[in-house]
Amino acid sequence: MTQQNETASVVIVGGGVAGLTLGTFLLRSGIHCTILEKHSREHVENRQRAGSLDASGVRTLRQWGIEEVVEEISTGDSADPGMPLLVDGQKRLWKMDGHGEDEADSAFCPQQVLVRNLIKLFLRDGGDLRFESEDISLEGVETDSPTVRYRAPDGSAKVISCDFIAGSDGYHGVSRTVIPEDVLKCDTHEFGYAWLTILAEVPADPLAVMAVHSRGFAAQITRGPNASRLYLQCPLTDSVGQWPDERIWAELETRFGAPPAVRGPIVSKQVVPLRGVVFSPMSHGRLYLVGDAAHLISPMSAEGMSLALHDAEALARAVVKHVDEGDSSLLKSYSDTCLDYIWERQAAAVWMTDTMHDSGDASYRGEFLRKVARANLETLTQQRTAAQS
Ligand SMILES: Cc1cc2nc3c(=O)[nH]c(=O)nc-3n(C[C@H](O)[C@H](O)[C@H](O)COP(=O)(O)OP(=O)(O)OC[C@H]3O[C@@H](n4cnc5c(N)ncnc54)[C@H](O)[C@@H]3O)c2cc1C
Repeated sequence: MTQQNETASVVIVGGGVAGLTLGTFLLRSGIHCTILEKHSREHVENRQRAGSLDASGVRTLRQWGIEEVVEEISTGDSADPGMPLLVDGQKRLWKMDGHGEDEADSAFCPQQVLVRNLIKLFLRDGGDLRFESEDISLEGVETDSPTVRYRAPDGSAKVISCDFIAGSDGYHGVSRTVIPEDVLKCDTHEFGYAWLTILAEVPADPLAVMAVHSRGFAAQITRGPNASRLYLQCPLTDSVGQWPDERIWAELETRFGAPPAVRGPIVSKQVVPLRGVVFSPMSHGRLYLVGDAAHLISPMSAEGMSLALHDAEALARAVVKHVDEGDSSLLKSYSDTCLDYIWERQAAAVWMTDTMHDSGDASYRGEFLRKVARANLETLTQQRTAAQS
């Protein structure tokens, strides 16, 4: 097997939202980077996951002049009174706080659409993105010239020497594993329940609706003109086999207090435990963790992509400062800077997840917390009748 040696300023492991935005920010700052992605282009462009990008994420893309990658199904509107929230079948309106920003900036944009557009933009800018890069291994991250080895699609072994490695290969990636166990700390919070997440070929009208009910939380969120993500809170022990299609539609009807506007084919189902996870530090030597490789946030807050963008921007600015000014202060503070923001967002996500779930099915956390969550729900919602909205 032949081996070819190359160089790059930054090797980015993983071509998801975090890796692609970091690559774009660096490329547009004149810094040579190579993105190594394990899967094929077709696979990553069709992988369905998130569906909304919060105001902070949209603003980051706008600041870098690449807001064109957000292909909105619809944005919020400053005149929009909020998202419908059905509490025991009664319609309320929930205005997300937008963490101090104008929430009108948030956008419904399926993650696979964002990823597809980021790939197109990066390649159009002349970026170096290598799909089907397998068996990636990181070496010498504690030295000044780390290397990344991988196997190219033609089977050849490749080595790239670089100044920095960005580990943006998601929660199950390999980058984080090179940080010694006695250095890397993991803080985890398990919420104690799961979401049955369902992809169905039905339009969502309105684009997002949530329900709090004594049988548990439920939601329907758009994923395109003829696609929706449906969510049903369920016990951690539930399996997909316990949820035939008929049971899903009946349960949605009960929790929403009315039949779903349209029923249609269900194309996938998955049971996802709700948890928050934070790894620290987010850097070790010349390796920097970005996005889900460093943290998971409850999907209730819909901020995973936005946190990935926050990390990507922080790392891009740090690398640019190092290269342009020989100043590595931002690289040194990268982990602390990101962790401060991540813990702020984790706190908000835990509050929102507890409020939306504890206020419904009391069997998980008891009647006392149900009443506390109901009181919190009052401060979140504006009581209006459907006729007024
Ligand atoms: C049910 C659910 C709903 C969600 N809803 C939302 C939402 O509405 N809004 C939101 O903002 N977030 C949401 N999220 C979270 C969001 O999907 C993630 O936070 C986001 O994908 C993180 O991006 P990333 O680039 O860090 O990681 P990923 O998207 O996981 O990308 C990592 C990339 O690295 C690649 N890779 C993995 N291993 C290797 C390897 N060894 N070598 C090379 N490449 C590798 C992968 O193929 C992938 O392309 C949701 C998550 C879930 C589970």
